[in-house]
Amino acid sequence: MTLMVCLFGVLAASWAVPRAVRRDWRRWWMSEIWHFTALLRGRGVKRRHVAARIRHHSTAALRDAWRLRVATPGSRRLLLAMSKPQFCLGTIAFGLAMIVLASHSLAITRAMLAPDYPDARQLVLISETGLLPGERYPVDPALLEYWKARCQTLTTLAGYTWNKPGTAWVTPNFFEVLGARPRRFLLHSIHEWRRATGEEPLGLVGRLKPGVNFADAQTELRDLAARFRHYQRPYPPRDALVIPLVGRIRQPLFAYAGVCSVTTLILLFGALIGMRADLRRIGRIRRNYWAYYCAKAVTLPLGLALFIWEFSRATSFTVTGGATFVAEPFFVWLVILASGAIVWWCLADQRGRCRACVRTLQYPVRIGSLGAVLFDHAGTELVCCEGHGSLYVPAVSSDYVQRGGWTALDSSDVHSEPVPR
Ligand SMILES: [Zn+2]
Repeated sequence: MTLMVCLFGVLAASWAVPRAVRRDWRRWWMSEIWHFTALLRGRGVKRRHVAARIRHHSTAALRDAWRLRVATPGSRRLLLAMSKPQFCLGTIAFGLAMIVLASHSLAITRAMLAPDYPDARQLVLISETGLLPGERYPVDPALLEYWKARCQTLTTLAGYTWNKPGTAWVTPNFFEVLGARPRRFLLHSIHEWRRATGEEPLGLVGRLKPGVNFADAQTELRDLAARFRHYQRPYPPRDALVIPLVGRIRQPLFAYAGVCSVTTLILLFGALIGMRADLRRIGRIRRNYWAYYCAKAVTLPLGLALFIWEFSRATSFTVTGGATFVAEPFFVWLVILASGAIVWWCLADQRGRCRACVRTLQYPVRIGSLGAVLFDHAGTELVCCEGHGSLYVPAVSSDYVQRGGWTALDSSDVHSEPVPR
């Protein structure tokens, strides 16, 4: 079975090999693997060892096919084009354009920035607190009716609930409270609106009377709820909670914008340090080099933020306006990891680029010997294809051993960073 899979893999890989040598290459590798298998079996080697050796051999065939493909003039031209800074920035711009297109022109971001309800600042979400901080419960329909009849701080109140596929059940005056019939509520897309049955607990939305603040409404609702329940003391103890609808909707916007802005600021601070170093060493700032870095530092965190808002569940709320488990602890952790990855990649990519033309440096050459302490330190040297200079990257990153550096070979960038040898 392993033999068949490997032979099939080699057959598929042969299409990557240039046409002129493809037939010979395929025949050579297939007969090689076939012969090798027969030899091992003839020697009585265990089946699993034979399978492991065949897999190893097939991987070598795939590597060989890739090497031949990369060596063709067309692939080399493609790799050279990919080494340009325009390719990297173009890819990021393409990604941003795809996000805008696929998200219907950033529908959720727009909904967070400008909720399409008239006088949206007067809208509030009402739920009941639980024993633990952050715990929220929907409200009983009987209490909703009691509040509706007696409340003085709110013009009116309405109840709603929804399910995952996008069906919402609402009380008859729901759209009157909102002042619109939206396509999404609390950023949750709603495909069908139905009338609430009046039996299940509901999340509540209300509209404050002009001049009334959230605290007044919350105090009144708490007093009314205590009167409604008379002598009954529910366990866990419950209190009405009133929060602004717009503030709640915008919370993910501010939270993730904050994380991504910090990422950008860290990267821009790195640029500032680099530019100061340029001024100190060569007396001028390498404008193209740092412009490319700043473009990455701004667009990548922006792309991450837009992706989170539009396609992730970081913007999902429970019916009461609380955060889901996926939205808060899990996503915050994931976004911090992604921001770290962006910082790491931006710095790593920038380091491996030519200081003059900002292309990726090519042809890595290992020099020195590993383990040498005093002389002949190990490291890698990369050069710019246009001949602007070379970069020495020490294998051991320590100032004590040796520091890496850029050596300019071109007359336009003669002031190079000294590399002590
Ligand atoms: Zn260059």
